[in-house]
Amino acid sequence: MSFGLSRGAQTACPLAFALVIQVIEETGRAPFTNQAHLPLVGQPLDARMPLSLLEAVRIIDTPDSELDAELVHELRNKRFGLSETVNAQIRRYNEMVRKPQRVAYDEVLALSRLLGRRPDADLVFREAGRRLARASLNTLSATTRKAALSLPALLGRPIALRQLRHVCRSFLDGKLQRQGSAIVLEVLAPVSADAAPRSAGCGMYEAALRESLQTLAGAEGLVEHVACRARGDSSCQWRTDWRKR
Ligand SMILES: [Zn+2]
Repeated sequence: MSFGLSRGAQTACPLAFALVIQVIEETGRAPFTNQAHLPLVGQPLDARMPLSLLEAVRIIDTPDSELDAELVHELRNKRFGLSETVNAQIRRYNEMVRKPQRVAYDEVLALSRLLGRRPDADLVFREAGRRLARASLNTLSATTRKAALSLPALLGRPIALRQLRHVCRSFLDGKLQRQGSAIVLEVLAPVSADAAPRSAGCGMYEAALRESLQTLAGAEGLVEHVACRARGDSSCQWRTDWRKR
């Protein structure tokens, strides 16, 4: 049985395979549907991306603090985000962030597809996107970040744009372009593009862009997903107006 993963993927991504096995044991069913997957290939990704995905799952699966210890223990066996497998992987990705070491594209792809099976996948990808943006922005110098926000737009915006470009290139494997008062993020192979129905996986990139824009430029505009691999386009693109309100 392949559980929806090819033999190559089973050996290339022991993490994903372990997670798949865990889901089967917990739910009694294979986590992948028979839906056709996109031919997604890409370079290794920053470890903050899979780390953000798993941290999002863990926070969503964490019960309210008032619950007693016994119930938490019981939930730990039932809720994926609280499992030892997820904990161990979070530790591993944290180490890879520290080294720094990137994670094989196929591993993050399999993880995204696995998480995309959850009924709350939309929530998971958006939360992961926000976390990924925050973790990425934390690598920038605080002084430059402050300058971008406090200087008049004429001076501050070019600084913010440079930082945004860096964040998009290094952490999202995407390209940011300015088109008048709008900016467009283009990602050729978004690792979560086919993870969940209705492009919910793309919500990770959208949320990351929105959070970055808000932090670096104080922009609160709507981010539109104007092109999508899942809809047959050659890349995923997000467009937003970034004038200050
Ligand atoms: Zn998309």
